[in-house]
Amino acid sequence: MVTPYLMFFDAPADMLVVTGTDGEIGILAGHTPMVAALAPGELRLRIDGQWRIAAASDGYIEVGPSLAVVVVNSAEWPEEIDAVRARRALERARSRLEDPDTSKQEKERSRLAFRRAEVRLKVAGKMADRAKGDFRAAALPADPPAPADHSTEK
Ligand code: ATP
Repeated sequence: MVTPYLMFFDAPADMLVVTGTDGEIGILAGHTPMVAALAPGELRLRIDGQWRIAAASDGYIEVGPSLAVVVVNSAEWPEEIDAVRARRALERARSRLEDPDTSKQEKERSRLAFRRAEVRLKVAGKMADRAKGDFRAAALPADPPAPADHSTEK
């Protein structure tokens, strides 16, 4: 699985589930060769019986006799997702979509940006659930460091 920035994942997996433009596609060994367009969505990999989840953007998948190649514009594991950044991207896209002056082309771009942000928040949230953490807390910026106490200085 590759993005323009890096080789995201390159190892054997028992099963792969990707988000196609018409819904989820599950791929097991021996799947019929195919090529399909991908929409921003979750990507799930089962490795040694354990599921790993990632947020993926648009791209395509090519399934061959012994290999599935996924090429997407971006992909992140849950722990790599900056939830604050995703929430800002979501709000930016939402306000562009609500603005009557936004062109049709810009609306289409904003719809994709909205979906990417939504998927990132969902995938980051799943990680927080698993860690029994609070997703809302994870979405808030860290507190600034407390000011140094100089009260005892002469
Ligand atoms: P933004 O407006 O915040 O840049 P975007 O959806 O336009 O969001 P992309 O163009 O999809 O961003 O991604 C550009 C790069 O930034 C990719 O490497 C992607 O993995 C990374 N990226 C984007 N958003 C996040 C995020 N919330 N957390 C971590 N990495 C992110």
